[in-house]
Amino acid sequence: MKTIIGLEIHVQLRTESKLFCNCKTNYLKAQTNENTCVVCTAHPGSKPYFINEKAIKNAVKIAAALNCEINEEIIMQRKHYFYPDLPNGFQRTSKPLGVNGTLEGVTIREVHVEEDPGRYDLKTGKTDYNRCGIPLIEIVTEPEIKDSEHAKKFLEELQLILAYLEVSREEPGSSRVDANLSIEGHPRIEVKNINSFKGVYTALEYEERRQKKLIQENTPYGQETRHFDEEKGTTTSMRKKETLEDYRYSPDPDVPPIAIEKNTEIPELPKPKRERMEKQYALTKEDAETITSEKKMADAFEKIAGHSNAKELAKLFKGILKKQLNYRGIKYQEKLTPEIEWIAKNLEQNKITEKSAEAILIEAIDGGKSAENYAKEQNLLGVETNIQGLIEKTIKENPKAVEDYKKGEEKALNYLIGKIMKETKGKADKKTILKTLEEKI
Ligand code: ADP
Ligand code: MG
Ligand code: ZN
Repeated sequence: MKTIIGLEIHVQLRTESKLFCNCKTNYLKAQTNENTCVVCTAHPGSKPYFINEKAIKNAVKIAAALNCEINEEIIMQRKHYFYPDLPNGFQRTSKPLGVNGTLEGVTIREVHVEEDPGRYDLKTGKTDYNRCGIPLIEIVTEPEIKDSEHAKKFLEELQLILAYLEVSREEPGSSRVDANLSIEGHPRIEVKNINSFKGVYTALEYEERRQKKLIQENTPYGQETRHFDEEKGTTTSMRKKETLEDYRYSPDPDVPPIAIEKNTEIPELPKPKRERMEKQYALTKEDAETITSEKKMADAFEKIAGHSNAKELAKLFKGILKKQLNYRGIKYQEKLTPEIEWIAKNLEQNKITEKSAEAILIEAIDGGKSAENYAKEQNLLGVETNIQGLIEKTIKENPKAVEDYKKGEEKALNYLIGKIMKETKGKADKKTILKTLEEKI
């Protein structure tokens, strides 16, 4: 049973103001209905302003990064539907701005720009139009995604590209996906409005299982739209999709067609960057993937690698740096670059231990002191190399641990290393300890 998946991805574009008015887009921080005006709440007689050019520029960058052919002009249409989140009674949505792109082996059918609707709360019956009119990009794929893993890979790469381009918003809820899944020869199910890329994976896994089960049980089912329950990780029926919804698309007489400026500068994208860095610095695929997981991190790596051992540097990035950033759930910060450079240099010249390197890095992230000042203040400079005598003494004084180690107990080895580290106040080189212990026992 072959699975067929196609995605419609909506992402809010990063702009100061809305698509057709000057209202601010910071709706997460604003009071209810604070960011509204007569245009985005469709007062009678109001007319849209000239289209937000920044939004179009951002959208062109995305289309270009997805290898789309870019069209000559942007044409706005009205897509009619009636719901309280849409005061105009229609949503302004453009004809495709880019077509026929590709990503992760999937054809991008088209990319277009549209307005976000407001928010209608069914429980209170109230609406908040702060979101109404925020520019969105919609990316539509052909049904060429093979399974939920493939969808995950596609979305992760898309997310990375968007982060590199710095043209879309990243707050929770700023991306929404409609995921379509069918089993070949059977009706298609659309799961609407999934709020996160992670949710897409869960919803697809669930739908694939559910549909296959229905087929195996010979239970007939029709094409329908379903709702994703984020908490339960399941989908529920919303409405049957028997007829094509009649949106009565028509050109918007208030918005003239506008020529698209096709010349756009996009940075080196994640995939070519990974491939180039892998070669240039003789990195493993995993190293290159980790280092390019953020553009700023990759930039920092290249800056330092100019005068440092790239292999060792990669180890530092993939090891303690990534670990400490992940632990805090934060992104790379440019202020860390000179500090990491200092750490890398001193590690390389064997002036600090890995343990000290980590302590220094933690201070660089959390504290205010420079790596050098902190290392001096905490007396972390210097590696104890003359530890042969100390190791012999430790072996003599801990016969039980030595016996256990000989029997193959990993814990006993760590115990011995710990003793030596303590004696040298963490300044002994772990590799030297290991080597000497192995030789002497
Ligand atoms: P509609 O007009 O009903 O919205 P589209 O042809 O515009 O349908 O496709 C919408 C989305 O559904 C696209 O992302 C497309 O890839 C996907 N899709 C189309 N057919 C299938 C199918 N048989 N199985 C899964 N996804 C599909
Ligand atoms: Mg469609
Ligand atoms: Zn407005």
